[in-house]
Amino acid sequence: MSEETFRALVVDESSGSRQVEVREVPLSTLPPGEVLVRVAYSTLNYKDGLAVTGKGKILRATPMAPGIDFAGTVVESASPAFKPGDEVVLTGWGVGERHWGGFSQLNRVKAEWLVPLPAGMSLQQAMAIGTAGFTAMLCVLALERHGVQPGGREVVVTGAAGGVGSVAVALLARAGYQVVASTGRLQEADFLKALGAVDVIDRAVFTAPGRPLESERWAGAVDTVGGATLGGLFRSMAYHGVVAACGNAGGSEFTTSVFPFILRGVQLIGVESVLVPPEQRRAAWERIARDLPGDLIDRLTEVIPLGAVPAYSETITNAQVRGRIVVDVNA
Ligand code: NDP
Repeated sequence: MSEETFRALVVDESSGSRQVEVREVPLSTLPPGEVLVRVAYSTLNYKDGLAVTGKGKILRATPMAPGIDFAGTVVESASPAFKPGDEVVLTGWGVGERHWGGFSQLNRVKAEWLVPLPAGMSLQQAMAIGTAGFTAMLCVLALERHGVQPGGREVVVTGAAGGVGSVAVALLARAGYQVVASTGRLQEADFLKALGAVDVIDRAVFTAPGRPLESERWAGAVDTVGGATLGGLFRSMAYHGVVAACGNAGGSEFTTSVFPFILRGVQLIGVESVLVPPEQRRAAWERIARDLPGDLIDRLTEVIPLGAVPAYSETITNAQVRGRIVVDVNA
C-alpha cells in the first residue's frame, strides 16, 4: 500500500540552490510527537516572511515547512489531553523553525504545545490572531501586570498597521485604553481608527532628534519596531510608564539615555511568545476570545492560499502588509 501524502510549502536548500515550492510530502516526513493534526489554517508572520524569502536565518534545517503557527483538528492522539476531532491552536515552540511548520496540511507535535481552540472562536479566527495576536495579548498583559490601567494617560502602539500592532490596538481599545497608533503608513489611519485608535501619529515622531526627556505623554507602549523607534519612545514616557517591547521590524539596536529610567521610573519589559508556559498560553487565548469580537478579527484579516505565501512573504518583509494574513493550507 502506498504511503499517505499531503501538501506542504517546503523550503529546500539540500541541493545547494534554494527551492521554495508546494510539494506532495509523505507522512513519514513528519517528526515524532503525540498528536497528529489536520491543519486548516496557518498565518504569515514577519518571521515566516524571513524564513520563506531567506532574508533571515529562521529555518534550522531544510527541507522544512515554515509557518510558526497553525490551527486544525486532531486526527490521532497518544495523549489523554486530546482526542480525534478536538480543535486546537499552536503558536511558537520552534515550530516552523526547528520543527516542521504550519504551511502544511498535516503536522505532528507534542501535546503540551497545543492549546484547545477557545469557545466561540473559529479556526480561521484563531489564525487571524495567530502568533502576532497572541504576542499582542502578551504585551497588553505585561503592561497590566506592571501597573498600567485604563483611565490614565494614553498608550501608544508602534508598527500599528502591522500584524502585532493592529491586534494590540484592537485589544487595548476594547479594554478601555486611549490608544494612539504610530505608523509610517498614515493612509491606514481609517483602518486604525476602525480598530479603536483615538489618534494616529507619524512614526517619524519617535526617530526625530530630541531631548533626553520630553513632555510626559505615554502611560504605556507596545513596541513592535525596536531600533531607533524604541530608543525615541522613552523620551516621552510618563512617570512610571511601561514599555512592552516585542519586535525588531525596524532594527535591533537602540540608544537611549538613562534619564527615563532613573528620573521617571520607566520600565522596559521584554515580551517573547515562543516558550510561554501552557497555563499562561491558555489564559491569554481565553482573554483574546473574551475581548476581541469575531467581526473585529475578520476586519483585520486577509485569507490567501498556500501557493501565494512566497509572494506575500516578500510583501511582509517590505512592511507592506496590513493587519493579518491567514493562510488556507487546503486552498
Ligand atoms: P509586520 O510586518 O506585520 O508589522 C511590522 C510593522 O512594523 C510594519 O507594518 C510597520 O508598521 C513597522 N515597521 C516595519 N519596518 C519599519 C521600519 N524600518 N521603521 C519603523 N517601523 C517599521 O510584522 P509583525 O507584526 O508580524 O511582527 C512585528 C515584530 O514583532 C517583528 O519584529 C516580529 O519579529 C516581532 N514578533 C515578536 C514576537 C516575540 O515573540 N517577541 C512574536 C511575533 C512577532 P507601520 O506600517 O504601521 O509603520
